Formats: sequence, structure tokens, C-alpha cells
Amino acid sequence: MTQIKCIGILTSGGDAPGMNAAIRAVTRSAIYSGITVKGIYRGYRGLITDEIVEFKTQNVSNIIQMGGTILKTARCKEFQTPEGRQLAYDVIKHEGIDALVVIGGDGSLTGARIFATEFNFPIVGLPGTIDNDLFGTDTTIGYDTALNTIMECVDKIRDTATSHERLFFIEVMGRDAGFLALNGAIATGAEAAIIPEISTEVDQLAELIQNGFRKSKNSSIVLVAESPITGGAMALAERVKKEYPGYDVRVTILGHLQRGGSPTAHDRILASRMGAAAVDALLEDQRNVMIGIRNDEIVYVPFSKAIKNDKPINRELLNTLRRLSI
Ligand code: ADP
Repeated sequence: MTQIKCIGILTSGGDAPGMNAAIRAVTRSAIYSGITVKGIYRGYRGLITDEIVEFKTQNVSNIIQMGGTILKTARCKEFQTPEGRQLAYDVIKHEGIDALVVIGGDGSLTGARIFATEFNFPIVGLPGTIDNDLFGTDTTIGYDTALNTIMECVDKIRDTATSHERLFFIEVMGRDAGFLALNGAIATGAEAAIIPEISTEVDQLAELIQNGFRKSKNSSIVLVAESPITGGAMALAERVKKEYPGYDVRVTILGHLQRGGSPTAHDRILASRMGAAAVDALLEDQRNVMIGIRNDEIVYVPFSKAIKNDKPINRELLNTLRRLSI
């Protein structure tokens, strides 16, 4: 059995709905097992500046329903240097923290992996990102909420699109991953999704136009994943204006509203299960792993796999969207 007596917890990088539910789950399950919990504010920055407070069960009362993160989050350049990480390690020793739970996306888990290796320090990660772009887990904390937010927004935009007979490009987040765009398109009955995963295979815009979309319809909605590979919604709209004049094209960029809001039941339950599993993992002497979920089972995914590998898009979803948007 492990000697872990104190777990530090932090949220880092982009915030995601459900992070609070995860903080609550880690805190309560650690305390349940007799472990002290310390909340680290502002991600890795708080580790360096020693913004650390002991968390009791009451510190995480009434937060399961809240979006954002009560621990705040930050992007910390200093942590990317060996000197910065040494400072963080000194603070960890000073605070008596024996292990860390890091909740964040690809970048945060990359930082966790480097730190864990450098100092041989136990860290377990939780996938907290709306992008769903971490390999080895079916979904990430925040993804379902963001998808539902997108669905509500697109439903509203469709009212206008239909009234004015327009082509709408709606840009959604994803940072090089098309999960939000593709599943958002299926959920809203959109005509197409333009996603980075297949951008190099086909000219999705040309395909869309050539397939004669909008011929039999009075409006069209296309979800575009924000990414340098797709070019984003603005660039695609410019292309339409030049190459296919005659289309009345409009752009909506959903932006940060996709990150906010109260987490869905799915994200609250996922975050609660993953948070509890993170404590179990540390007690089992696991380190350098991300907690994932596959076929409704908790799994441990080595950081090296979760970060390095591109998570493939499910081709069946692409086919479904194509077939349903005729
Ligand atoms: P996300 O976790 O949402 O992907 P970022 O990519 O902004 O967000 O990463 C969050 C933080 O993780 C960074 O500000 C930095 O402190 C840390 N980080 C990211 N990449 C590295 C790295 N290669 N080495 C050390 N720390 C890193």
C-alpha cells in the first residue's frame, strides 16, 4: 500500500464544465480514505507561487452544478521551464503534498507528464476539456455540456437561417478535433460538418457545393471546427464568396459561450466517477496515468498514450451525417 497522506489538486488550461464536480469528487473520496487534500489555485502558476489551501468537505459543497472551476485556471509559461518546475517541486515538498491530481487538457497533461518524470512524482490526470481530443477515453469532462450548448445555439440560428434562406457557417471549438462539429451537426440536423480530420482527404467545401446541397432546401447550416486545417468559418465564407457567388453566406462564431454553463448530468456523473477513480489510482500506486472511460468502464491510460496519439473520428458518424442530410 502507498504512503500517500496528502493529495494536491489543480485545474489547468482551458476551463470545462464539470471541473468542479471533479474537484468535489477528488476531495471527498480522498478525505473518505483518510487523506488530506490541498487545493492549488490557478493551475501550475499556483504551484509555483504557493497559492494552496487545505480543502475540507465543506470547501466543495454546492459546486457540483457550477460551470468553470472554483480553483481557477491559468496558463503558466514558467512551468514550461526546468527552473519553473523546480520551484513548483520545492513548493510541493514545503506543503507536504505526496501526489497530484491534475485536471486539464492535452497541454496540462503534457506538463504533468514532464513533471512526474523529472521528479519521479506521482500524478494522475483527469481529462478536463470540451474538445474531447484526448486519446484512450470515449469522452472528456465538459464535452457533453459543450455539445448541448452548441445544439441549443444552432437550433436558434436555424430559425433565422430558415426565414432568410441563407447558408450559415457556424464555427465551434475543438482545437484540431472535429468531435464537437460532427456530433453537433448530427444533433441539430445540420447539412454538414467541416472537420480537420478529413481536411487533407477531401475538399469538404467543394464536395458540399457539388453535392448540390441547398437545391431542395431553403436554408443550410454547416458546422465548422475551428482549426488552422479547416481554415475556420470566416476563411470558408470568403472562399464561398469568391468561388461560388450567389450563395448568401453568413458566419457565426460561437466562441467562449461553448465553455460555460452548468454541466449536464452526463458530465457531472463522469467527473464524479473519474474524480473518485483518480484517488483509487493513487492508492493503487498508479502514476503517470490519465483516468479514462471506455464502454462505461473506468480505465487507466498512460500519459504517453493519452497525449501523443490523435484520437480518430468515428467514420460511422460521418456516414450517418451524410446520409441524413440529403
Ligand atoms: P490545455 O490543458 O487546455 O490543453 P494548455 O495547452 O494551455 O491547455 O496548457 C496548460 C498549461 O499546461 C500551460 O500553460 C503550461 O503551464 C502547461 N504545459 C503545457 N505544455 C507544457 C509542456 N510542454 N511542458 C510543461 N508544461 C506545459
